[in-house]
Amino acid sequence: KFNRLEREAPDPIVQTMTLYANDPSPNKVDVSIGVYKSEKGGSYLFPCVAEAKKVLAANDPGHNYTNMQGIPEFISGARKVAFGEEYAAEGKLASLQTISGTGALHMGFVFLREAGYTNFYLGVPSWSNYIGMIEFIGSKVTTFTHYNEKTKKIEFDAVVSALESAPANSVFLFQTCCHNPTGADYSQEQWKKIGQLLKQRDLIAVLDTAYQGFSSGDKDKDAWAIRHFYELGLEFVVCQSFSKNLGLYGERVGCVHAVVQDKEYVPNAQSTLVANFRSECSFAPAYGARLASIIFQSPELKQVWDNDVAEITERLKTIRKKVLDILTELKTPGKWDHVVEQEGLFWYSGLTPVQNDRLISEHNVYSTSIGRVNIAGLNNNNVEYFCKAIDEVVRN
Ligand code: PMP
Repeated sequence: KFNRLEREAPDPIVQTMTLYANDPSPNKVDVSIGVYKSEKGGSYLFPCVAEAKKVLAANDPGHNYTNMQGIPEFISGARKVAFGEEYAAEGKLASLQTISGTGALHMGFVFLREAGYTNFYLGVPSWSNYIGMIEFIGSKVTTFTHYNEKTKKIEFDAVVSALESAPANSVFLFQTCCHNPTGADYSQEQWKKIGQLLKQRDLIAVLDTAYQGFSSGDKDKDAWAIRHFYELGLEFVVCQSFSKNLGLYGERVGCVHAVVQDKEYVPNAQSTLVANFRSECSFAPAYGARLASIIFQSPELKQVWDNDVAEITERLKTIRKKVLDILTELKTPGKWDHVVEQEGLFWYSGLTPVQNDRLISEHNVYSTSIGRVNIAGLNNNNVEYFCKAIDEVVRN
């Protein structure tokens, strides 16, 4: 019976969050989980979402079931955000509203399995959930190292050689921007090379887009790889999360899209996505997707959203610069330029597990064991304290 079950280890980040919650120190700093925080350190409500909530409250749609594919206005808006107006209108997309980005990835992986693609390739380090999620549905994953710990940059030769050596019909899982955890993204030239190889070698891509906008400050620019792959005539899957770029973490707002170049087969892909979802969840949650739809449909709120994303990105860049300035001023041993070179929410600091443990035990600074720092957890009140803590663990 149930005593056959093994005890599973909790996710390390959950352990870190628990430690943080139980720490009574007034100086404690949380830079662990990937959540955008306001300058005051609290959770952040996007102004466009605050407005959308008012609109929704004034037009209560009730609580009936929605549509199994998802809320139609949400689907059409999500397509435009990822692919742009023009490509979204071409009729080559099969899309499903999902339980945020994690749900989009899961339904994407299941869809690929249904289509016969179960052999995944993943550059590591990467988001800690991918491997478990791929193996959970019985697919296989091969990893390669796509990041150089010394230069703190993408190790692009390794990416090319994985693409050149993988068997045809393998699936390559990439993040479009603001890579979690490395903050190191591909340049347009590198994406072009990746696209070429995918095409030449008959490989499939999954593009995970969980931080669209937070790299350049412009959601369209951050979707460059998606639109480039579309233009190349590739068939691929896009997994979209609105947790971060609308701050709707708990509402679970996401979408998965399959690009089907021969339009005749779009209904097959579409019905497969819906049938799979029927067996898993039936309907995705409505509230957050309704808020997103209101924003997608209103030119004014879209503008507020654009400004908001641009401001957040600017703030992240400013904090990064501050960290570099303070570490430079402190003459902290080592090279720290990567804090401003990396993009998005995360700084992959390169601090060792021992140094990270000491940040917690001696300075009440909660980063992750792999040295990933959530830049948004820093602000004018704690950035100096944070840098001094780093300085201390690096020196002594
Ligand atoms: N992909 C990446 C790269 C992520 O970092 C995350 C969240 N940390 C997700 C997907 C999924 O996020 P969610 O399910 O909250 O949308």
